[in-house]
Amino acid sequence: MQVFFHPDQLLHLPRTYLSRGAMREPQEVPERASRLLQAVTDLGFRISRPQDHGLEPLRAVHTDAYLRFLETAHGRWLASSSDWGDEVMSNIYVREPNALRGVLAEAAYYLADGSCPIGAMTWRSAYWSTQSAVAAALALMAGEREVYALCRPPGHHARKDAAGGFCYINSTAVAAQLLRSKHGKVLVLDTDVHHSQGTQEIFYDRPDVMTISVHADPENFYPVVTGFEDETGSGEGAGYSRNFPVPHGASEDTFFEHVERALDLAREFDADALVFAHGFDIYVEDPQSPVKVSAEGFARLGERVASLGLPTVIVQEGGYHLESLGSNARQFFSAFLGNRQ
Ligand SMILES: [Zn+2]
Repeated sequence: MQVFFHPDQLLHLPRTYLSRGAMREPQEVPERASRLLQAVTDLGFRISRPQDHGLEPLRAVHTDAYLRFLETAHGRWLASSSDWGDEVMSNIYVREPNALRGVLAEAAYYLADGSCPIGAMTWRSAYWSTQSAVAAALALMAGEREVYALCRPPGHHARKDAAGGFCYINSTAVAAQLLRSKHGKVLVLDTDVHHSQGTQEIFYDRPDVMTISVHADPENFYPVVTGFEDETGSGEGAGYSRNFPVPHGASEDTFFEHVERALDLAREFDADALVFAHGFDIYVEDPQSPVKVSAEGFARLGERVASLGLPTVIVQEGGYHLESLGSNARQFFSAFLGNRQ
């Protein structure tokens, strides 16, 4: 299996983040990617560095102003005042009205929550993370049947013009949009434990990219304001966004009952290609997870995703229990490949 990863994806080193009233130790750390890279190396997969395909694929799903902010914010932040912290973080969240005068106002707009500090290397890491997804989509379009984009930092919470939930650039959405240049209908299936609100927002009014997300119930759980069953798309996209919130504390079997309902819908959509947004944070021991998927559950997930029988780009999203990432990845990929026709 072809894998894309760039070593600069390891450079983003968040120092802290704000969640539920507390400053916390970063969980979205470079070791996540190192562990996954080791796992796919052990499996004998072909690992390549992505080429630089530039900003164009990113501009297809994000605003230019937002991308410019991500690229320039840290430099302008450091130049603004000597008593500001060394990462761009906002304690002010204002969408409208916001005149966007000055980097503090931009941070108030473009950072949707307290979990996306921007350091000196954040743009570089996020850029190459997404270039891995671009390369994976292009490889699929060139004839590969399945490709893994080992994205880090993750992307599915990144909106058209806002970072959130450890995510800066929505690699899953970039890959799906790129696949549309060859494939008529593209399905995004996301089983990360958090609702993929960025991906949903980007494709919400479109019938050509269906987004289906299975995740822990967002009531009092990130992203808290989206991911409910009554969000189903708008305009021409009505019916093409679907959410399957799983009750907190759910067993593995309950989780997979929701996955099966998602797969039934996916088959009805009859897509030409799949982007599978893959989070390991559904694992029972993951520090983020309120659901209880076991190590063997990842083999079950791999088999179920393979059963769709579609050309597939797998994009890495969350997963924060470092000790299990490698073995869970081996479970998933072995079962996925073992069940491909
Ligand atoms: Zn997640």
